[in-house]
Amino acid sequence: KRLVSGLSKTRANIVSGIDSIFSGFSSIDEDFYEEIEEILIMGDLGINATTSIIENLKKQVEEKRIKDPAECKKLLIDSIKQEMTVGNTEYEFENRKSVILVIGVNGVGKTTSVGKLAGKLKDQGKKVILAAADTFRAAAGEQLIQWANRAGVELIGGQPGADPASVVFDAVAAAKARNADILLCDTAGRLHNKKNLMEELRKIYRILEKEYPEAYLETLVVLDGTTGQNALAQARQFAEVAKVTGIILTKLDGTAKGGIAVAIHSELDIPVKYIGVGESIEDLEKFNAESFVNALFD
Ligand code: GDP
Repeated sequence: KRLVSGLSKTRANIVSGIDSIFSGFSSIDEDFYEEIEEILIMGDLGINATTSIIENLKKQVEEKRIKDPAECKKLLIDSIKQEMTVGNTEYEFENRKSVILVIGVNGVGKTTSVGKLAGKLKDQGKKVILAAADTFRAAAGEQLIQWANRAGVELIGGQPGADPASVVFDAVAAAKARNADILLCDTAGRLHNKKNLMEELRKIYRILEKEYPEAYLETLVVLDGTTGQNALAQARQFAEVAKVTGIILTKLDGTAKGGIAVAIHSELDIPVKYIGVGESIEDLEKFNAESFVNALFD
């Protein structure tokens, strides 16, 4: 339900166009494919994904000797789903001692997502410790305190400007002492200063390797879904400096650009693991390609 209403703008953007094609064409020809292609591109699915989806659709139409455009809808939906099943989509951190590093530039919804994720994992019965390792932005610490309270989890903080790696060091000690299941770290994301960011992440990775080698490590990048192709560019840049294992795509409730989720899978081979569909603590959903595409078309 939440997913369907959260994606309503994207749905309106893609579905109305697609439906008019299926009903407006009487035969399957190049124009028909071109119209579909245009809608997918307008829907922010990106050139790569769109090309491969159309190719797959054409192949299916030929193999199954389909003549009626209306029969192509299901094939199109299946082709989109297929395009999204890449990368490691397992939520391995849920089943063992884990550290989740969350990175992302200011304003994308990083702190909010960390808070929501803390609440979600706690609800699953996990012992969660939050680390406020984004010490660059003073307000982030304050905000995280509120989220920690809301989620009912312990927060390890640092003074504004403190070394993020030292916060992670303290947080690891706390996680071990309390026998926590998950250490969730709100980490920086100053992409405009790539060298510093790289250095900072390297230090954090080094501490985790040395102090907490038994923990499974997940690095999630938070991207703002309303920024469409920009989000994709950011993901690419983060993947250059960190061992990114998944993506949290936020603000899908406020945008018609939700198709970017397809582009991310297709272009980067990094799975979207969670999506944000609102501002409250329960508005973070595990991503599932099947239900995502169904919510857009059914
Ligand atoms: P940060 O600077 O990346 O830590 O971003 P914040 O977590 O402070 O979020 C920035 C703004 O985006 C806040 O007003 C959040 O409430 C809002 N926000 C975050 N995630 C979502 C979402 O999934 N949907 C909507 N509508 N707003 C969101």
